[in-house]
Amino acid sequence: MATDFRNEPFTDFTRPENAEKMRAAIEKVRGQLGQTYPLIIGGREITTAATMLESTNPANPSQVVGRFPNATVEQANEAIEAADEAFKTWSRVPAKERADLVFRVADILRQRKFELSAWLIFEVSKSWAEADADIAELIDFAEYYARQMLKLAGPQEVVPYPGEKPELRYIPLGVGAVIPPWNFAGAIMGGMTLATIVAGNTAVLKPASTSPTIAAQFMRILMEAGLPDGVVNFLTGPGGAIGDALVDHPRTRFIAFTGSKEIGMRIFERASKVHPGQIWLKRTILEMGGKDSIVVDETADLDAAADGITASAFGFQGQKCSACSRAIIVDSVYDKVLEKVVERTKKLTMGDPTDPANYMGAVIDDKAFKKITDYIKIGSKEGKLVLGGETSDGKNGYFIPPTIIKDVAPDARISQEEIFGPVLAFIKAKDFDEALQIANNTEFGLTGSVYSKDRSRLDRAKDEFHVGNLYLNRKCTGALVGVHPFGGFNMSGTDSKAGGPDYLLLFTQAKSISEKVGP
Ligand code: NAP
Repeated sequence: MATDFRNEPFTDFTRPENAEKMRAAIEKVRGQLGQTYPLIIGGREITTAATMLESTNPANPSQVVGRFPNATVEQANEAIEAADEAFKTWSRVPAKERADLVFRVADILRQRKFELSAWLIFEVSKSWAEADADIAELIDFAEYYARQMLKLAGPQEVVPYPGEKPELRYIPLGVGAVIPPWNFAGAIMGGMTLATIVAGNTAVLKPASTSPTIAAQFMRILMEAGLPDGVVNFLTGPGGAIGDALVDHPRTRFIAFTGSKEIGMRIFERASKVHPGQIWLKRTILEMGGKDSIVVDETADLDAAADGITASAFGFQGQKCSACSRAIIVDSVYDKVLEKVVERTKKLTMGDPTDPANYMGAVIDDKAFKKITDYIKIGSKEGKLVLGGETSDGKNGYFIPPTIIKDVAPDARISQEEIFGPVLAFIKAKDFDEALQIANNTEFGLTGSVYSKDRSRLDRAKDEFHVGNLYLNRKCTGALVGVHPFGGFNMSGTDSKAGGPDYLLLFTQAKSISEKVGP
């Protein structure tokens, strides 16, 4: 199967025709900002609510990107019940038809690529290239999971037995609560939803409150592709108010969540309780935070390492679960690597990402702005501030310059806690052994990379660096669907691999059937 899958190419914006298309898409989307979108429950659109949620542009907080009803707990329950009703028919739709629908979704996404990227630029402050990569990943998820489903629906290997015809089928689970984060507001939101439905399940999609508009655009595409009513129900509102209802409902069969460790743990605990009327143990697919390291030893290509650290730490303002927030450098090259990273970081541009000259946009919202600036203050006491650190009041956009803090202890708070912003700690190790030890000293285990030319050390890292996504002599961000199945260990999640060959198994259950055919 995977043979005919190809990753969606990234758009080359140095080509004038592509830059022109992007500019036109930005202007088109600018003209559509501030609209009101409905909740969609069982195909019914509901636009009125006691209170509304406003998604705003992080680079220009007074600009409203979209308005959404804040759903009530009753509506959350209704959405699960609508999905439960739709499951009766959708679960019987042949896998080929479900996969065809998802292929159609991929086609529409491809046609609207520039426009969808533009929504991400306004809603979550991605640069042109980051937005384009997010939508390319969403297209990849559609193409990849549809193919995976076809494979899973085909004959499965069972051991022959005389007189019987055994078979193994992967059947859907039921209703999934799909709860994505805002940082890959296209790819993760759409990827978890598509995995859910292509496997024959139905969903309640509750997007992050800072990125509901891209999810509303995606919903429209699902409907345009012919998705029957009730298969995906669209519910907006604060997770703190309606999340528990989605997780707790006795007809919820599984929860597909990506987000912080704190919310992931809450869902894990709540999902373990069996409620009256519930006849299954809920499955949880929980992808959580990271505290990712790049290790550099004295044999490494230091320029390549500095490029990798800079891109991994500051791309999308450091707001990737895979972002490098710890550069662990062996003593003898520590100063050199630091100098090279500082030199490269000083050249990074920051500002309104509708302008392609800006490499970095704003951080997502006022809460993130405060949290990150607080961590910079903490870090400046824990180590020495080398670059960045200037804070503003955030009123003209939540901009935080790329910040580097050196001589940070391996157990300092900024070495251990996920900041989720453009803050990079430099940590000195006396040698490679110690560097590897430090790299493994957090509760997380998501991504990591090692720059070295020493084969035996690279091999040791393969065995000993305990992360779900390990990279050797390349940056620790930018996982590609199918190429780098993605997901972490320990407190980074439930060890699943999005965009990998076994991901859909998490959304299905195996049924063993055997018919007596002979004596
Ligand atoms: P978050 O605050 O945990 O929110 C994630 C989602 O959970 C949002 O849709 C949120 O809704 C919802 N939520 C909030 N409270 C809830 C509750 N009580 N019950 C159910 N759902 C609830 O995370 P985030 O800030 O959006 O995302 C950043 C985090 O995601 C980082 O920690 C990052 O490392 C992690 N991440 C991990 C991966 C991975 O693959 N491991 C990938 C990307 C991101 P509201 O927005 O309405 O609060």
